[in-house]
This record gives sequence, C-alpha cells and structure tokens, in this order.
Amino acid sequence: MDHFLYRDGVLHAEDVALPEIAAAVGTPFYVYSTATLERHFKLFDDGLAGLDHLICYAMKANSNQAVLKTLAALGAGMDVVSGGEYLRARAAGVPGERIVFSGVGKTRAEMRLALEGGVRQVNLESEPEMLALSEVAAGMGVVVPVSVRVNPDVDAKTHEKIATGKAENKFGIPISRASDVYAQAARLPGLKVVGIDVHIGSQLTDLAPYEQAFLLVAALTERLRAEGHDIRRLDLGGGLGIPYERSNQAPPLPTEYCDLIRRTVGHLGCEIELEPGRLIAGNAGLMVSSVIYLKSGEDRDFLILDSAMNDLIRPSMYASFHEIVPVAEPAPGIEPRRYDVVGPVCESGDTFARQRLMSPVQAGDLVAFRSAGAYGAVMSSEYNTRALIPEVLVKEDQFAVIRARPTFDEIINRDIIPEWL
Ligand SMILES: *Cc1c(COP(=O)(O)O)cnc(C)c1O
Repeated sequence: MDHFLYRDGVLHAEDVALPEIAAAVGTPFYVYSTATLERHFKLFDDGLAGLDHLICYAMKANSNQAVLKTLAALGAGMDVVSGGEYLRARAAGVPGERIVFSGVGKTRAEMRLALEGGVRQVNLESEPEMLALSEVAAGMGVVVPVSVRVNPDVDAKTHEKIATGKAENKFGIPISRASDVYAQAARLPGLKVVGIDVHIGSQLTDLAPYEQAFLLVAALTERLRAEGHDIRRLDLGGGLGIPYERSNQAPPLPTEYCDLIRRTVGHLGCEIELEPGRLIAGNAGLMVSSVIYLKSGEDRDFLILDSAMNDLIRPSMYASFHEIVPVAEPAPGIEPRRYDVVGPVCESGDTFARQRLMSPVQAGDLVAFRSAGAYGAVMSSEYNTRALIPEVLVKEDQFAVIRARPTFDEIINRDIIPEWL
C-alpha cells in the first residue's frame, strides 16, 4: 500500500497534487511520501513486537538526509555499507549505537571512522577483514562488537545481480567454516563476538529461501554457543521484495516474514536485527517525468521522456519493471496503447519499457514511475551531463525539496583544468 492515489482526476502524493510539485521544481523529479516510509518501517517494528529487536534501515536504498531523519525519529537504526553512509547516518542524527556497519570491502580508514564515531556492531565478511578490524581497533585501544556474515549457500531465486547468499557470491564466509572463523575472532584482541549476520539477497518474493537460511542460522547459534561464544544478536539482513508489477503474485507480507522469524529463531533469546531497504523506501517514491515527444516508428510508437537511464537505472541494469502511469487519471474505459518508453540518452539501453500497454498520453503530459523510492535517486548519475534530478518529500499537504537540482555551472565547475593545459 502507498499514498499515491488519484484524487479529482489527478495523481497525488499524500495531499499534494503532482502537477503542483512539477510546476515548482520542474521535471523530472523524485517524490517520496512520509506516511508510506513511516508505515513500512512500522510493519517491521510492530511485526517483531515482543521480541527484542532493532530495525536497521539499509540506507543504500535511499540515503537522503530527510528520509533518514524521518525513519530515525521512529527509532530506526541504520545499516551502512561505506564510510560515506556512516557519516550520512551520523549527520542525520543517528547515534553510533544504532548503526550497523556491513559490506565486503571496508577499508581501514572506514573502520577508523566508525570506531571514532561509535558503532553498534561491525558485520565481518572475511578473515582478512577480521584481522584488519582487530588491528585497527586494538590500535585505537577499543574493542568492537562484531558479527560474522555467514553465507548459507541458499538460492534466493532473485535477479543474479542481487543474489548474495550462494557459495559463488562474494559475500560472507561459508557457513561450514563458521566454527573456525568464530574461534579465530574470539582470540583477536580488538573484537568482541556478539552475533551472527546473514543477508541472502534483494527483491526476494518467496519465504522459502529465508526459512532455509534462518534455520541454518538457528542451528549455528546453538553450535557456536556450545563452543563457548556469547551469541546474543542475530542480524537477519534485508531483502524482502516489493510488488513492482501489480498483476503479478504479491510477495510475502512483512507480517508473514516476521512470523517466520519468530518461528525459526524466536526461541533463541537473541536480539533480532533486520536490515530492510527496498521494502521501506521502494513504494514510498515515484519518479515523475514529462513526455517530450511521441514518435511513431516503423512498427511501434516511442514515448520519449525527459528522464533517462541516468536518473533511474533499474530497467537497464536489472531489466526491472516499473509501472508507468499518467498523472492525469485516464478516463474510464479508455483504450490502452502500446509504447516503447525511452529516455533521451544516446544508448539503446536507455529504455524503460518495451511494448508497454498503458493509457494513451501526449507530448507535454506528466507520467509517474511507481516503486521508484529505492535504488532510484541513489544510483543516478550525470551521464550525458544531465543534472541529478531533485528529490522532494511530501508530508500531508506540505512538500519540500530535499535535494535540489544542480545548475549546469555547478556541474561544469566541478571539473578542474590543470595549470599546464
Ligand atoms: C542491500 C542490503 C540490504 C537491503 O536489501 P533490500 O533488498 O533493500 O532490503 C540489507 N543488508 C545488506 C548487507 C545489504 O547489502
């Protein structure tokens, strides 16, 4: 469910009509709904009520300061995957004790940053990283709480680029090596083992891979405890999918996912950490564009928009589907048409959808891409010297620009001409 509905024939974000935002900031732009962000966070937070838990929003999905502040105000922790994200979380007022540091390639500089500012736990992904973190921590005279990310070798049945829990993926240590690795971690001076971490992929639409992974984590918890480790936290990652295509079968609900967690690991007395990103931000955002031209090709019609692959890369990168709807509500009974929906970038890959059946639109009309709140703005670039598009946050009847469109002067002046040129 989201808060982007037609009202009086016009698509709204909460109580704000999208043409009003378009008039104020120009197109294209991203727009996020506060109520949807809050609602999605609470689905997890309430879903685990009664279990000791912390929902650490995976901020790589959408790391705008205003989004982070919205969630932090509800008590969210953050899952960060770089030093930059760590600083972003801190800048949004998230205390160190609510920040989990994940990621396969943390540098020593990034580790130092997190240890200086304070961190709830670092999720370790390899033995060399473990040695490096212990050295950095010991050098600073601190002991850092750690979990080790185990790779349970389960098939998440999602797009290959976002599956992370198979043996062939770069993530975590094989679960079969966990005893050795935990024994080694326990001997290192800068580390204090507190838990186990697992994250098997993103956009999962089936609970079965989760069940397999969580049962393995439960068994591992018992084994590591028997081996003398104080396992008191389980970080179960993120990855729950969202319904991009409404006609498809809906992915499992967060309540079902939380019930599965209770069933598989609830008896262990561990504090549960979750790291949802996409489910919190995905359906909380739209990308709104204008139709520049309607071009009739030999055998198809092209809808040429003012947004492109640099603004929303998911279709060209993951062949992903975004519902595209006109901002002016189509009249009932109107005959849909097929379009290839494309952007102006000089690559055939700059195609949002092929032969998409949708309500007819004309040049000058506004269209909205649904489910664009996660992995949208954060993955955008200025390819073709197209300015990063603004982000807008709506709360009831108010809206605010939360990242402005840079001017072309700003973009060009970031380059530096060498003295000798
Ligand atoms: C990307 C990522 C997440 C979030 O995944 P979503 O599919 O957005 O929920 C959580 N944890 C880790 C370690 C990740 O890399």
